[in-house]
Order: sequence, then C-alpha cells, then structure tokens
Amino acid sequence: MTTEQHYDIVIIGAGPSGLAAALYASRARRRTLLIERNVTGGQIALTSIIENYPGFDEVDGFELGQMMQRQAEKYGTEMAYANVTGLERRDKLHIVHTSEGDYSAKALIIAGGADYNKLAVPGEERLTGKGVSYCATCDAAFFKDQVVAVVGGGDAAMDEGLFVTRYASKVYVIHRRNELRAGKILQERAFANPKMEFVWNTVVEEIEGADAVQRVKLRNVETNEESALDVGAVFIFIGHHPNTEYLRGSVKMDGGGHLYVNDWMETGVPGLFAAGDVRVNSARQVVSAAGDGATAAIRADHYITDTFHE
Ligand code: NAP
Repeated sequence: MTTEQHYDIVIIGAGPSGLAAALYASRARRRTLLIERNVTGGQIALTSIIENYPGFDEVDGFELGQMMQRQAEKYGTEMAYANVTGLERRDKLHIVHTSEGDYSAKALIIAGGADYNKLAVPGEERLTGKGVSYCATCDAAFFKDQVVAVVGGGDAAMDEGLFVTRYASKVYVIHRRNELRAGKILQERAFANPKMEFVWNTVVEEIEGADAVQRVKLRNVETNEESALDVGAVFIFIGHHPNTEYLRGSVKMDGGGHLYVNDWMETGVPGLFAAGDVRVNSARQVVSAAGDGATAAIRADHYITDTFHE
C-alpha cells in the first residue's frame, strides 16, 4: 500500500525557475506541488535590489519571490516546506521522499538552484554567523561603522559589497586576480564608491577571532607575501554550486553537478525535467531561470498528455 500524496507535476525548489514552472503547471490545470526546503525565492530572496528583470526598474529580490509565489498559488499551486531526501521511480511515476512525507508525480521538475561556495579556510566554519556571512542583505546591518572584508570579484561580490557600504565604514574587496569578473555597471559603481578598497591578487588564508571575526590573514598570489587586515566581518561571494547531489548516479550531469538537458529541459529520464541553475549552460539570471521553468512546465504538461492520456 502506498501512502504518498499524488500530484501531476511536482517541482523541487521555489526559486524563479521553480516558481515560474509552478505558475505554468497550475495554469495548465495540472495538480501542482512546489517543494521548498528554505525560503521562497532562493538566491533572489537574499538579493537586495534586482535591476535586470524585464518590466521592473528596481525590485526587492525577496518581494519578487513572494509575488511569484502568490501568483502561482492563485492558480492552485500547493506549497510544501520540506527537505527532499531521495527520489525513486515506480512504473511511470516519480516518487519524491521528503522530511514531511512522500509525494508521487507524473512529471518532476528539478529546480533546486545552487548554494554558495565556501572558501574552505581555517576559521570559516567556526565563525559562520559570528562575522562570517554569505548574505549582505541579511547581515550587513550588524556591522555598522565597522571595517569589513568582501571576498570575490563577480557580480554578487560587487552587488552585495555595495550594499555593505551602506553600513560599514570601510569595505576591503579581496580578489584573487587583478581584474573583476563582475559586469561593467557594477564595476563602475564599486570603483566610484569611496568606502571600497580593492586588494588585488590576494587570497584569504585564515579567518581569525575568538568568539567573533577579528582578522583575516592574506597571501598575495603573485609575490607570496603574507599580510593581515583587522576586520569585524568577512562576506564571502565566490560563486555557487548546483544542489544536485541527491541525483548523482541517476541523472546525467557534468563534473560540476549540472544536469544535462535538451532544449525542452528534458533530462533523458522520462518525465524528469531540470530548470534554472541546476542545469548545464544556465545563464544564471532570474529571467533565464524563469524562462527555463516555463519551458519545463509546458513540456511536462505535454508529456503527461502523451504518456498518461489525460
Ligand atoms: P561568479 O560570477 O562565478 O563569480 C565568483 C567570483 O568569486 C569570481 O570573481 C571568482 O574569481 C571568485 N572565486 C571563485 N572561487 C574562489 C575561491 N576559491 N577563492 C577566491 N575567489 C574565488 O559568481 P557570482 O558573483 O555569485 O555570480 C553568479 C551568477 O549570478 C552570475 O551569472 C552573475 O551574473 C549572477 N548575479 C548577478 C547579479 C546582478 O546584480 N546582476 C548579482 C549577483 C549574481 P575569478 O574571477 O578569478 O574566477
């Protein structure tokens, strides 16, 4: 006897791709469940201002996620807040095991997004939440008038670093190369901000402090010269990795854990789709993730019609 709850389309992850998939799936009148382990919005929930989502001049990332969820729920999407612990195939169905129970799906869309990378240096783990942070929007206000460090040279480091300057008295940006990866507009803003000082060709070797961050130990990668900076916080933005570990061995993925899909977001496993940051060659933007989610849901709807004749 099975005890799972039955759905047409189950979506794992309530970031922009999962939320867009939920909107399209429920508007196709498919019984739709959206499973989220954390906060609706995924990475955008931690983004202060989004300026490149078409139609919105400026929108708060958390609020955009909430708007997307309300829109999907309006058409019948159900939410479950749970950790996915495993997947199983039973006949043509996908069974999703979670911390809150099991669900069956005729089509399953993987939209679990990506998690931030860690530096993996001494002190990082121990001082997380005590000055080591991966979210400026969440934590910058705790470091008012303090000197802090930001690590990374991409869009996230600049965007979040600029947000940190609203509170901190000075922000050292520590980057392992001598040029930024971030887009030009963010670079211009960062270079123009008098509170930001760039420390080039440099990596963090250790984060020190007894009960809270007090100092970062640095090494210049060109000269090997070692130095230290006294800071009250270290904000780390060095990219992300896809949340696909639980799929290893069952779905084709690249070395970094990104799932291979075709133009319709099909993984090659019947009824299993992937959308957004979990897939190979994702542009990793809100708009492209939302597009992936819509594509996956449209195809999932057709797949159910063809496979289950309904
Ligand atoms: P990213 O573009 O991959 O940049 C990661 C940065 O961290 C790079 O500068 C990289 O250095 C550095 N890095 C990586 N591993 C490191 C390590 N072990 N130690 C030290 N430095 C390390 O990641 P992201 O900035 O998180 O952005 C991810 C995606 O989200 C991008 O597509 C981005 O456009 C998008 N995004 C956009 C915005 C926006 O406002 N438009 C905001 C946030 C994110 P190298 O440059 O040397 O590789």
